[in-house]
Amino acid sequence: MNNFRMYVPTDIRFGKDRLNELPEVLASYGKRVLLAYGGGSIKRFGLYDKVVNLLECNGFQIVELTGIEPNPKIGSVREGVKLIREHALDVILAVGGGSVVDAAKVIAGGVYYDGDAWDLVEDSSKIGKATPIVDILTLAATGTEMNRNAVISNPERNEKLGTSGWELLPKVSFLDPTNTFTVPASQTAAGAADILSHLFEQYFNRTAGVTVQDNIAEGLMKAVIQHAPTAIQTPDDYIARANILWASTLALNGIPGNGRAGGWTCHPIEHELSAYYDITHGIGLAILTPRWMSYCLEHDATTVAKFAQYGRNVWHLEGEDDTVAHQAVKATHDFLKSLGIPMTLPEVGITTDELVPEMSAQAVRHGHLTQNAYVSLDNEDVAEIIRASFV
Ligand code: NAP
Ligand code: FE
Repeated sequence: MNNFRMYVPTDIRFGKDRLNELPEVLASYGKRVLLAYGGGSIKRFGLYDKVVNLLECNGFQIVELTGIEPNPKIGSVREGVKLIREHALDVILAVGGGSVVDAAKVIAGGVYYDGDAWDLVEDSSKIGKATPIVDILTLAATGTEMNRNAVISNPERNEKLGTSGWELLPKVSFLDPTNTFTVPASQTAAGAADILSHLFEQYFNRTAGVTVQDNIAEGLMKAVIQHAPTAIQTPDDYIARANILWASTLALNGIPGNGRAGGWTCHPIEHELSAYYDITHGIGLAILTPRWMSYCLEHDATTVAKFAQYGRNVWHLEGEDDTVAHQAVKATHDFLKSLGIPMTLPEVGITTDELVPEMSAQAVRHGHLTQNAYVSLDNEDVAEIIRASFV
């Protein structure tokens, strides 16, 4: 196990009927609020009215930033920075999924940065002080509610990049499983795939002696595998939604990953699919992940033992390492498919492979995949994984 720092002071307010705590929470940062949200789902399911009424009754001034899209765009970030400066706002209240919270994070850093906010996405060392963020999360997937990461897209440059800053950690996150009841089946499935991918990215790793982290990761994977089908079939099942939501938070708040060296693989590749085709992040990951797993087993025999561990501990498979490892990949694919996820690229509208070389090169460059990945990948290797995702 490697040395690590774990500093995640986000105040988590988990559970239903806690919105009455919001005015006091926000007031500790100020009375002038940037209310940031997405394309309107919070209006359709009533959360917007509740929040606005509550804030108005308690004397808050609200300025709205609306229309933050999935795969949030740098344009929304620039708009948010401008609104905060213009109205001298004290705090951001982000209400929505990971896209809204991620946009809020870079807005928060952008306010104190003397230059274009895209610089903060390209170079996280430029992130310093930030406006405080409080969020009400409405979709279980990213873990952004308890981490310092944000992923922002720049459509003009076909780029989708992750950045990170200690000051970007949300101060308070309201995690009410009932706010996720209205998440459609397809997004619930995408969220489950994203959570699993976060765990895989950390779990398939070369650092030895991380029993605690591996056990936690396996436990979280099993919770997602147990509860995601129920959340899809019975969207208002509180227990299923609560477990998925808490798993999403714990999967990427540092606990399963700290103490390990090495980088991620499927996320950098998926970010290129989203950058070029604007597909749903979790769906892209679900399509790529089993192909990447097969690639690892076919090209690097040293990965068999870890995939066998995954097969035994998560899927309860028995037998020789090699057999269990391959069966675990199939179990992963079949589980994701059973959630209703389209499991090939043509099904999500990527019908030609003309951009594969360009996307592969970008993924290797942005993700440092030759140096950092679990199995080192060059441009051709990534292209092979993407091409395998067409069928
Ligand atoms: P999202 O992009 O925030 O939201 C996806 C869709 O779900 C939106 O159309 C949204 O509609 C809708 N939605 C959200 N909550 C809903 C609800 N309660 N009921 C009905 N519809 C709802 O999804 P996400 O998966 O949470 O975030 C994805 C983004 O996060 C990607 O850009 C991904 O790369 C990034 N990401 C970040 C991290 C991190 O650590 N920061 C990690 C992984 C991924 P509205 O817009 O109308 O609200
Ligand atoms: Fe993700």
